[in-house]
Amino acid sequence: MTERKKTPLLDNFRVWAAVLVAAIHTSPLAAWTSLGDFFLTRILARLAVPFFFTVSGYFLAKNEWRSIGRFLKKSALLYGACVLLYLPLNLLAGHFSGPTDFLRRLTVDGTFYHLWYFPAVILGAFLAWQLSRLGRIPALCIAGVLYLAGLGGDSYYGLTVQIPALERFYTAFFQIASYTRNGLFFAPLFFLIGAAGYRWSRRVSRTGFLISFAAMSAEGFWLRGLGVQRHDSMYLFLPLCTMFLFSLLLGKNQGQNLPARRFSLLLFVVHPWCIAIARSAAARTLGVLVAGNGLFQFCAALGMAAFLEGICSHFAPLRPKARAWRELDGDALAHNAEVLQAALPEGCQLMAVVKADAYGHGAIPAARRLRKAGVQAFAAACLSEAVALRKAGIRGTILILGYTPPEDACQLRRWRLTQAVADAAHGQALAAQNQAVHVHIALDTGMHRLGISAGDQDAIAALYRLRGLKIDGVFSHLAVSDCLDADSKAYTAQQLKRFYDTITWMRSSGLNPGRVHIQASYGLWNLPEQPCQYARIGIALYGVQSDRGEILHKLDLQPVLSLRARVVHVQTLAAGETAGYGRAFQAERETRLAVVSIGYADGLPRDLPQRGGEVLLHGRRCPMVGRMCMDQLLVDITNAEAAPGDAATLLGRCGGEVITAEALAAQCGTITNELLSRLGGRLGRYWVPGA
Ligand SMILES: *Cc1c(COP(=O)(O)O)cnc(C)c1O
Repeated sequence: MTERKKTPLLDNFRVWAAVLVAAIHTSPLAAWTSLGDFFLTRILARLAVPFFFTVSGYFLAKNEWRSIGRFLKKSALLYGACVLLYLPLNLLAGHFSGPTDFLRRLTVDGTFYHLWYFPAVILGAFLAWQLSRLGRIPALCIAGVLYLAGLGGDSYYGLTVQIPALERFYTAFFQIASYTRNGLFFAPLFFLIGAAGYRWSRRVSRTGFLISFAAMSAEGFWLRGLGVQRHDSMYLFLPLCTMFLFSLLLGKNQGQNLPARRFSLLLFVVHPWCIAIARSAAARTLGVLVAGNGLFQFCAALGMAAFLEGICSHFAPLRPKARAWRELDGDALAHNAEVLQAALPEGCQLMAVVKADAYGHGAIPAARRLRKAGVQAFAAACLSEAVALRKAGIRGTILILGYTPPEDACQLRRWRLTQAVADAAHGQALAAQNQAVHVHIALDTGMHRLGISAGDQDAIAALYRLRGLKIDGVFSHLAVSDCLDADSKAYTAQQLKRFYDTITWMRSSGLNPGRVHIQASYGLWNLPEQPCQYARIGIALYGVQSDRGEILHKLDLQPVLSLRARVVHVQTLAAGETAGYGRAFQAERETRLAVVSIGYADGLPRDLPQRGGEVLLHGRRCPMVGRMCMDQLLVDITNAEAAPGDAATLLGRCGGEVITAEALAAQCGTITNELLSRLGGRLGRYWVPGA
């Protein structure tokens, strides 16, 4: 039952790795504790670059090294760009003593202190690829021997040179390269560790990591004490540590975080420039003491890189390469929260309903964004949803609208959740657990779903006598607030009357109802202001109505979710040819067909093509044709331009055209609530970076 939330941990950790690299080059703690700084920058941070190699190795091996050519080319191009970027600093510092020295640095050491990484990536990936043909174990063994050879010239140098033959070997080697930390000795092992893709259980990975990291720390301090290190990039325990760390992250890794990827690369590439700029600016204004301070340089580098990332994400927003995805507009969500809160009377708070993964929008990122927009109360459908929010660090009130088994009262208390009392027996059973559970009493005023009948004064009063309950609120739910016909309006008026009559009776009987609430989205749209302390708003928060029906008080809300999928194949059918299952589509004329990679397993109804379903391609409407498949569908693009790789819009805006959730839901014969909340977990989510 407890499904672990997965996150793009590998991408997220890239950011930490890049931050650690920046720490290596600034020594942020050096001014205060040289030992602490040694631990941070010479031990902990030494995990960073091996991690980058390992992730690359993992992804290269995952598609059987087919993309190695592209990978090497991309790395070489990036390296070329970095060489140019750092040329001014090279020239200023008079780094190159001549063309041969430049060539040597370019191919072996890297032209700037952090750029050794690129020659190492290129040679390391190439060697790992070649070695991997020998099989996993032989490849790892050879790379392991190379690593040991590198180790001898790195942190164990003072010990190895006691042996004359080794001394001669390293002396000769250091004529060419400055370090053994390179693409020959250092990188291949980590690429191959990644390629092996070891994934142990969480417990094994965590324990393994802790033990090997402790061993590596001891090793580091021991070598430091001996004073034998020529350099301090390589440790005996580093490969083991990396292996366990990678397994730990891989076990919970899912999806991509493109902004994290870009930021980590950006930070890695530009931080030496940022450090140089910060130093010289500070030397002129704040004095040499500040300019030379590692922490100052470190913070300045991070700040400047974050600023650059902000500029990049504004001018070049990232697009995922996924087959199909939900695109989410966090600014629209925040805007809706503000508009809704402003529409509520003084003293009434917006309670954001984020049940069913925030109607398919992603409960955790949505709740985080809403917290930032000032929302302090949330509603979930069940215990597991509420706990997931708390675990993600969401603070404030979280009300569980559905039934929670009384035995789980300890969970309610542990996670500081508020529970709706489903009926009198539920209240009694919850109280019997003696957990002092915070509750809101659900009143049934005519919906006849959950709740104590609003007229049942005895049952209500009985709840107030229970010491195991802390009653913070009383609420009810309207059955037909979305309908504006006379009958429905009368029914809603009757529900409201029952509700407020009960509240009035409670107050006069000394039973404090706490915060009262009855409106959901349609209650806000169709009823005048209510004397309540909360309004539980779901669908309106996501910027859409449930259907295209009339509402009385329109608000300026913006849709948050767009649904897009990739065109993966385009072909031309001659007149008379058929396509898809059941040969359900037959071309009446020569027809260009696109295959779009989204299907009914992603949450679309299978008969959408027959119901007039369309996608937008380059601002043109194109009809879906034939039978929808589980993972793909066919689109007639005879009247549009489309090529493989293009993004088709199933929901949302594209050029001047738009497919609204309300229109699509109507086509599907349902309401937007169902349509959105049913979108499948296989669809990644991609939050558009805010302006
Ligand atoms: C789902 C739900 C809401 C939110 O409804 P919307 O119409 O989406 O705003 C409010 N209250 C209760 C009890 C609910 O179950």
